[in-house]
Amino acid sequence: MPMVLLECDKVIPERSKHIYLKVEGEDQRDFLPISNAATIPGTLSERGCAFCGAKLVIGGVLKDTIQMIHGPIGCAYDTWHTKRYPTDNGHFNMKYVWSTDMKESHIVFGGEKRLEKSINEAFDEMPDIKRMFVYTTCPTALIGDDIKAVAKKVMSERPDVDIFCCECPGFAGVSQSKGHHVLNINWINEKVGTVEPEITSEYTMNFIGDFNIQGDTQLLDQYWKRLGIQVVAHFTGNGTYDDLRAMHKAQLNVVNCARSSGYIANELKKQYGIPRLDIDSWGFSYMAEGIRKICSFFGIEERGEKLIAEEYAKWKPQLDWYKERLQGTKMAIWTGGPRLWHWTKSVEDDLGVQVVAMSSKFGHQEDFEKVIARGGAGTYYIDDGNELEFFEIIDLVKPEVIFTGPRVGELVKKLHIPYVNGHGYHNGPYMGFEGFVNLARDMYNAKANPLLKLAATDIRGAKSALKEAAE
Ligand code: SF4
Repeated sequence: MPMVLLECDKVIPERSKHIYLKVEGEDQRDFLPISNAATIPGTLSERGCAFCGAKLVIGGVLKDTIQMIHGPIGCAYDTWHTKRYPTDNGHFNMKYVWSTDMKESHIVFGGEKRLEKSINEAFDEMPDIKRMFVYTTCPTALIGDDIKAVAKKVMSERPDVDIFCCECPGFAGVSQSKGHHVLNINWINEKVGTVEPEITSEYTMNFIGDFNIQGDTQLLDQYWKRLGIQVVAHFTGNGTYDDLRAMHKAQLNVVNCARSSGYIANELKKQYGIPRLDIDSWGFSYMAEGIRKICSFFGIEERGEKLIAEEYAKWKPQLDWYKERLQGTKMAIWTGGPRLWHWTKSVEDDLGVQVVAMSSKFGHQEDFEKVIARGGAGTYYIDDGNELEFFEIIDLVKPEVIFTGPRVGELVKKLHIPYVNGHGYHNGPYMGFEGFVNLARDMYNAKANPLLKLAATDIRGAKSALKEAAE
């Protein structure tokens, strides 16, 4: 029976429907883990809230936009700076956090006036910035503050500014995934088509679902420039508000993160007839395949082959150096969702690494279909995993390196297991050819780090070298 009830879950047996152990020869469609469902009472979920999905993952990445969070200060802090998405304008988005800092009296008497004041204050303080996202959070949604009416009033008084309202409080969905969805759909319905871009190439595309983690977007942009392809809009890595308003003018939508951003690509197809092309940008084989697919769409295959050959010549020897040393390593991936299926096959194909356990916080059914199809037998696939399950799985599969976020990463470090930040990266970018060498380097450095052994040493009662020298 491939659905697994772990020892730690004996008191919440429903968890067995969320944990799958792939068995050779079985029809996986019969055993897909339940996903994108409400967390079971009794399990301590590590999911983020729906507001977090909208703000932290998508909106907050934009390089020229004030992100006004209408809520208590805690909502702001928890969605600020846990990921590093640099920009080419001095990292404006990472320098500031904006909040209406709602207090009890605002909750009792209403927060619209406070929001209006905060919006005006932010624009006054930053006269060069003319674009803003406003988010509701749980308390301001519950008291019914009409953020759209406030935004409309400010826009009528300040004709040079444009404001987008994202009404997705934390409780709106079972995980951050709902926030992705709400932002995608509202953006296309309210803002796309309101700006006409300057077209400078006969080949144009939107690059969707890449958030410039530690420079991913900027690395991939070098490829598109060399291929002569104009990126009309980046959704949203190093992107601008107005570029996203012009998404309707691209010939092709290239989608990297299908989970967070597939919705807007589908709508662009439905509403504007722009085709959607999904690629994987992590890994040599996948990146080359993605470039080939894009070039084939535009009929520029030769340019693509030239680019791939140049990149392989430059980076493949370095990748092979790491492959020699990482071959056979057992790896676990505990991230949001799509990276499970982006990475499991690429680390196997390009580095000889075997992924033995994977956990997704907000993946949907199609994410599990993809990852189980790409992943190996004998591997655990977990939806909405909790800490006790992680400890038990570690005992079962004994991973030699774990890619996860900083919160779980702290636990992993305490177990003295090599850890790599799979969310914000250790030393990225990780996308593209050069990026995958960086990923391999960070994996190798984590594994080979001599300090890991020292971290487990109990020095109580032992004489330190310094003390000995002094005696
Ligand atoms: S769950 Fe609600 S109150 Fe908590 S951080 Fe998210 S939006 Fe704010």
